[in-house]
This record gives sequence, structure tokens and C-alpha cells, in this order.
Amino acid sequence: MLIAGNWKMFKGPGETAAFCRALREADLGDVDVAVCPPYVSLADAVQCLAGTEIGVFAQNCHWAAEGAFTGEISAPMLRELGVYGTVVGHSERRQLFGETDESVARRAAAALEHGLHVIACVGETESEREAGKTEDVLRRQVSVLDEDDNMVVAYEPVWAIGTGKTATPQIAQEAHAFIKSLLDLPVLYGGSVKPENAAELAAQPDVDGALVGGASLDLESFVSICRAASQ
Ligand code: PEP
Repeated sequence: MLIAGNWKMFKGPGETAAFCRALREADLGDVDVAVCPPYVSLADAVQCLAGTEIGVFAQNCHWAAEGAFTGEISAPMLRELGVYGTVVGHSERRQLFGETDESVARRAAAALEHGLHVIACVGETESEREAGKTEDVLRRQVSVLDEDDNMVVAYEPVWAIGTGKTATPQIAQEAHAFIKSLLDLPVLYGGSVKPENAAELAAQPDVDGALVGGASLDLESFVSICRAASQ
């Protein structure tokens, strides 16, 4: 069971250091834990969590090792910083920054090749679900990913991200089982996970953890989610 906190564009270096110092003292139960700070805060997170089992992930990573790609960061650069892994394909990247299945696949492959662990996000929009296209969308998004021991998938229905609308445990379970029928990898659930719903989601047989956005920004709520999922 992996509980990863995606901080999005929140917490600069100072706030990150304070959060990570408190996190390392917290009782997180029996789960693997990771945080995904913004790029500028990765070094502080790595330093503050050194010697712990808590992983530090970036939120994205370019496919080239270096080059003329203004605003991008490469896998070797993240490795040099001591970062453990990276998220790729978050729906905000797909929706707001033009990422495609192909660019997500290239980012994932490069990260793995350079020794990073990967959390690859997939998920349908509300209109795709209403049109009965959930499985087609998931099949298309998953088809470009390779099975790799260092990769997990995060099922994040776009209609549940930051909306307060959580998928029911049954919806999550169905989607996770479908993804696992395509790719034999652990699948995290993401979309308005909170302390109140974490235990029930985590209890589903094909839910292997959670990618938590908003509720991961507050230490007490993130710790509660970790402990709820560990039961
Ligand atoms: C996310 O950004 O990956 C996410 C799941 O956000 P939230 O938990 O806020 O819905």
C-alpha cells in the first residue's frame, strides 16, 4: 500500500522543510509513503527525509536527458538531486499543458530508464464516463505504458480531482480491476481522498494505495490518511 501526496503548485522550500521535518516524526502506520513537492522544493524534501523510508517524487520529468527544452527538468537531474521517482501524466498536465498519451509514455520510459520510480496517472473525464467511454479511455491511456517493476498506475477519474466528488469504492474497484486486466501493476486511487474515505477505498481488493492531492497538504490530514489506509 503506497500513499503519495501530490502537492501540485503548493509549498515552497521553507514550508516543505517544515512539513517534512514533522512528517518524519509522525506515526504513519504500516504503509509506504511518498511526497511530490514542486521542483524548487525537491532538494529540501530530499534533505529533510534522508534516512527515512519516505520517498520524494517529482511531479513530472522530460524524456530527454538534456537539451533545448525551456522550463523542463530531466530524469538525470532529478536523480542527481536524490529524488526517488516522478509522477507522469497527471490530468492537470494533460488538460492544461497539452500532454498526450505519447508524451506521457515518453516521460515514463525515460524516467524508468534513468532509475526513477514512476507513478503514471490515467483517468476519464466526466463526459467520457457519461458517454460510456471509461474503458476505452483507460485502455488507450494504459496501452502506451510498459509493465515495469518500478512503475505503479494511479487511477484518477478527472471528475473526482479537487471536486470533493470521490469515486465510490465500487467505481474505483471496477476501474482498478479493469486496468489490472490490461497491465499487471499496482494501481493507486486518486480523486478527493480524505481521512474519512481512505479506509474504505483502501479496503477494495484492487486498490493498492492512493495519490492524494488537496488533503496531502495538511500534515494532520495526510497522516490520518496514511494511518486509515494501513488498517
Ligand atoms: C491529484 O491531484 O492527484 C488529486 C487526486 O487531487 P485531490 O486529492 O485534491 O482530488
